[in-house]
Amino acid sequence: MQKGKIGVSSDNLFPIIKKFLYSDHDIFLREIVSNAVDATQKLRTLAGRGEYSGDISNAKVRVTIDKEAKTITVSDNGIGMTAEEVEKYINQIAFSGAEEFLEKYKNDANAIIGHFGLGFYSSFMVSNQVDIISRSYREGATAIRWECDGSPEYTLGEAERAEVGTDIVMHINADSEEFLEKSRISDMLNKYCKFLPVPVVFGKKTTWKDGKEVETEEDNQINDVAPAWTKKPVDLTEDDYSAFYRQLYPMAEDPLFNIHLNVDYPFNLTGILYFPKLKNTIEVQKNKIQLYSNQVFVTDSVEGIVPEFLTLLHGVLDSPDIPLNVSRSYLQSDSNVKKISSHITKKVGDRLAQLFAEKREDFEAKWDDLRLFIEYGMLTEEKFYEKAEKFFLFKNTDGKYFTLEEYENLIKPEQTDKENNLVYLYTSNQEEQFSFVQAAKNKGYDVLVMNNVLATPLINKLEQKYSNKRFVRVDSDVVEHLIAKDEPKHELSWEEKNELSPIFKAVCPETKDYGFIVDFKDLGETGSPVVVTRNEFMRRMKDMSQMQGGMSFYGDLPENMNLVVNTSHPLVKKIFEERDAVLGTELETIKNDLQAKTAEKEEVEKSKKDKKEDEIPSEVKEKADALESAITALQDERKAKLTTFGKENKLAKQLVDLALLANGMLKGEDLDRFVKRSFELIK
Ligand code: ADP
Repeated sequence: MQKGKIGVSSDNLFPIIKKFLYSDHDIFLREIVSNAVDATQKLRTLAGRGEYSGDISNAKVRVTIDKEAKTITVSDNGIGMTAEEVEKYINQIAFSGAEEFLEKYKNDANAIIGHFGLGFYSSFMVSNQVDIISRSYREGATAIRWECDGSPEYTLGEAERAEVGTDIVMHINADSEEFLEKSRISDMLNKYCKFLPVPVVFGKKTTWKDGKEVETEEDNQINDVAPAWTKKPVDLTEDDYSAFYRQLYPMAEDPLFNIHLNVDYPFNLTGILYFPKLKNTIEVQKNKIQLYSNQVFVTDSVEGIVPEFLTLLHGVLDSPDIPLNVSRSYLQSDSNVKKISSHITKKVGDRLAQLFAEKREDFEAKWDDLRLFIEYGMLTEEKFYEKAEKFFLFKNTDGKYFTLEEYENLIKPEQTDKENNLVYLYTSNQEEQFSFVQAAKNKGYDVLVMNNVLATPLINKLEQKYSNKRFVRVDSDVVEHLIAKDEPKHELSWEEKNELSPIFKAVCPETKDYGFIVDFKDLGETGSPVVVTRNEFMRRMKDMSQMQGGMSFYGDLPENMNLVVNTSHPLVKKIFEERDAVLGTELETIKNDLQAKTAEKEEVEKSKKDKKEDEIPSEVKEKADALESAITALQDERKAKLTTFGKENKLAKQLVDLALLANGMLKGEDLDRFVKRSFELIK
């Protein structure tokens, strides 16, 4: 029996392994099982080359728990180790400069994990002793036993083992007894070892007999040694892809389509990615992409490893170039990983372009489930945007789909404004904005449906990209003004507006959520008498502030609605006539007084002009002030009269309510009053 010291001069190795790896204790099983798998594959290779003549057709890795002895054993029929090999591979851990490194980074667990990897020694995270019983495949080799109790001292001697291969016996420490539970090991094997390339067996298959679960004779193999992604695409049918998806995510709805990745230059990468149906919100994704390295599970949190929008996809990626035992920050900075990531982005773009080109109908049918993913990609990855320009689809209110280019051609003739901008009209809610959509269509315009969460940022992005494109929501102005074409028609003067706006202001609802700005436009006799519109800029800012923090300034502002009164409409004209009948003479008097006072004030101002403040006689100053107050008083008086008139004018109230109703803004008590007033007016 030989005694020795493991070839690390630092006595601190084990405490460090235990301390730093606390959160990830369960990876020890992955490490030990994948060593066993490696050893088995090595022996297969040797057999293939004729360097080993034993039978390896039934080679398996077997995991067993002995609850009484408190051990977990991983056994394989692999290549085995001679005493010299144990000396070389286990005792002399490849820790060159270990002591120095450990000292330098003793507070940075990630650096340590990243530098060394864990391998065999991770078993000491959960064990107070580990034994290796192994017999090499070499002719005449004798079995050996290595024991180590977690201190750097070990013993190495002879052992009994009939067959070629290795047993790793882990004597589980008191803190880790959870790992002696069958269900725990089962879960871990399922997570890390589900697709290892050599059969991994844990216990026996069970069956139900007389209401009890009993073990059968058959080994319980926990892995699929040849998962779909390791096969050639030509050897797989659509059903195979679906079946594999269900194997990965038993509870998930069927995906839309898949991409089989198969790259061997400049790095190795295989995998299958699936496009899931994405609901109209960016949900926290339960079914994540799983990252493998040679069929060994590495992680399912791929954020930072693949571009963010790709994390919405499902499936597996496998690359031996993705290092197994490294920290996340290491992975993110690894140049191979970066290359892989941009390659996947490209492939995903190409695949979508191909599906679009080959099966446009199918692509359109799936668009609503896909668009969130594609829009997210366009917003976050410029490279993807460039590809997506070819297959991104607009959908209009008739349910027709158009590429960017097709749509541009469609609307160019009708929807180019006088400054040569292309104006894209859209609705975010076809029901609520129905009358606006209708008005736009009647005018020969096309209206897009842009109603999902990413609509506003996407619109901003498109406007940024193309300086001559503008997006305007149908309810942001009256239809005549959505796309500014000719010079505006005759508009009311400021004075005329002043004589009208208090009437309508008086019948606008008073709420703290939004204010009303009354305006007058000539919308023609057949246009609506009153229209309520929402400023595009303010509304978009508010939408954005809801989606992201930091813009709450806009979120807090009350919104201003524009109440546009159609000066050509007969009903509006009727209100003007009523006003003239009721207030005509009074308004006339005020108007004349105002004109006189204003003229007088102008004279006074003229005399003040070009004089310094102290050169102006005080009676002139007083006169100017007196005139100013008189003018304000007259204006106030006029406003008060108009307001009173407006308040009592049922027709004005009715027209404003109708406009609110068309926008879905008339509710509760106001709605009730509207209905009652309608009856009165009909009578
Ligand atoms: P790594 O697997 O990264 O090389 P490990 O510490 O896990 O590092 O293992 C060190 C070496 O010990 C392996 O490279 C292999 O040569 C040997 N070894 C470990 N486990 C086995 C096993 N079950 N059968 C044969 N050799 C093994």
